[in-house]
Amino acid sequence: MQCQKCHAPLGADEAFEFAGRTLCEDCYMDALSPTRVCDPWAVYLGSRQVEQILSPAQEKIMGLLRQHKALAPEDLRRLSGLTAKELEREIAALRHMELLRAAQTPDGGKVLKQFGDRD
Ligand SMILES: [Zn+2]
Repeated sequence: MQCQKCHAPLGADEAFEFAGRTLCEDCYMDALSPTRVCDPWAVYLGSRQVEQILSPAQEKIMGLLRQHKALAPEDLRRLSGLTAKELEREIAALRHMELLRAAQTPDGGKVLKQFGDRD
């Protein structure tokens, strides 16, 4: 099984259904996000108004990623003290601002990184 959007290999417990397509968690979160990725104006505004837009929770997340370089979602949740739901929302927002991205670890796990931090 693989994600029908980014073609990442998926285990049965990692697959999400959205609009009839099988997606990985990342693509599913993108699909659910209120800001559409394909809207260039939203992306432009997101990347231009970073200083004004960041909420205290988002500042905290980015601070933790600067400090630790890469964090698994559950570690980020523990360190930030946010609920899973809050964290999910903030991560989706930060991804659209192109401040944060998800990356795969060699053992198939997932970590979150600063957007500009290459593997
Ligand atoms: Zn995907």
